[in-house]
Amino acid sequence: MRDITLILVGDELLEGDVADRNGLFAASFLREKGFPVTRIVSVRDEVSRISEAIKEAAFGEPGILIISGGLGPTVDDRTREGLSVAAGVPLEEYPAARRMVEDYYRKVDPATGFPRNLPAGGERQYLIPAGGEPVVNGVGVAPGFRIRIGDNLVFAVPGVPREFAWILEHVIVPHLSDNTEPENTGRRFLRTTGITESRLFEKVRHLLEPVARVKVSFLPSPAGVDIVFKTGKDLSGGGLEEIDSLAAAFEKLLSQYVYSRTAESMEQILRALLIERGLTLALAESCTGGLTASRFTDVPGSSSCFILGVVTYSNESKEKLLGVPSSILEAFGAVSSETAKAMSGGLRGLSGADIALSITGVAGPDGGTDEKPVGSVYFSLCSADVHFSVKRLFRGDRNGIKFRSSQTAFDIVRRFLLELPIDSEPEV
Ligand code: ATP
Ligand code: MG
Repeated sequence: MRDITLILVGDELLEGDVADRNGLFAASFLREKGFPVTRIVSVRDEVSRISEAIKEAAFGEPGILIISGGLGPTVDDRTREGLSVAAGVPLEEYPAARRMVEDYYRKVDPATGFPRNLPAGGERQYLIPAGGEPVVNGVGVAPGFRIRIGDNLVFAVPGVPREFAWILEHVIVPHLSDNTEPENTGRRFLRTTGITESRLFEKVRHLLEPVARVKVSFLPSPAGVDIVFKTGKDLSGGGLEEIDSLAAAFEKLLSQYVYSRTAESMEQILRALLIERGLTLALAESCTGGLTASRFTDVPGSSSCFILGVVTYSNESKEKLLGVPSSILEAFGAVSSETAKAMSGGLRGLSGADIALSITGVAGPDGGTDEKPVGSVYFSLCSADVHFSVKRLFRGDRNGIKFRSSQTAFDIVRRFLLELPIDSEPEV
């Protein structure tokens, strides 16, 4: 297998203005296709930086270089010059590239009904280092191009994520598939929530020694801890059975904490469960501010099981919309088991949903007390047969606490549907 290097060009990536999406997409897409990326390098929009990075990556073993960004018409687009320096060849105007650009501008712009005009500097996009060839861009104007430098094949691809993804899928992967044997990049996934990384590790550490040939990664985030099992070095070319049996042993020990065996999110899993059972859901949110409903409605087709979401942020709205008695709010406070229960009870009546779930807590940074510190969150579920509340204590900043709360809300419904234990134990 040849090394694959990604060079991401753009000051914005190094100055914190834009989060990289192309490296992220390429790394996962190429891995899925059996062509794992060897390294990713980010460089500024400077000819010398770009050419240095190319020379460094193109030195030694034969490989594939994919350069993202810097191909447009503006002065900060320097990739073609960087490549020309690295390859030691001049830039030349390519009729095929010119045709691609002209074809794009000849097409009528659907937004205005008029043909587009080639912008100032647009001719730069006809230029390609001598010996290269243009690569068609199916969703934008700037063609990419490919060129050999020594034993390396270099693809230069526009940085706009949609265009980068298109060329990767339609040009680069087909090239790799035609010329290289894909690697077995078998892997398994377990997604857990409701357990910290250290507690999880305690439970499974004894499984890890005997099967060192499987590489295991633990990836904690506010959604929970994801576990990735993949082929280790000595296991290249196979070993899916070994991976499977280790993943199964993990799953057995982690039982109720595992919500997904794929990359599917909690909200996708929950939607599938609700639909399978023909049940509907409603949400009353306070400290999560609608995040839970927003995440749930990100899943296509959620309308078939999601009836109503309300954000009752003030005490008054909890009383008016959900019928929470003022006596409860006064006696126990808005962040309390009693208020959570009154919210879910009221919501069930209001929505007619099979399952009504409420969330009320302190997301911080202010508003915590000794008794109810920042991160204290109460949840309550009300269905035809049950009406209960649980308390959790989350660590983290405001956004982290909001996300963990919404994740836990989904998890409570999931556990309820699967008849798994739902406890009030604190977690982080
Ligand atoms: P264009 O023809 O649009 O100028 P280009 O090849 O010159 O394409 P850039 O100028 O580098 O690409 O970037 C175009 C847009 O895509 C910019 O908004 C930039 O922030 C964004 N972009 C570039 N690289 C990345 C990346 N790795 N991740 C996310 N966004 C990116
Ligand atoms: Mg540009």
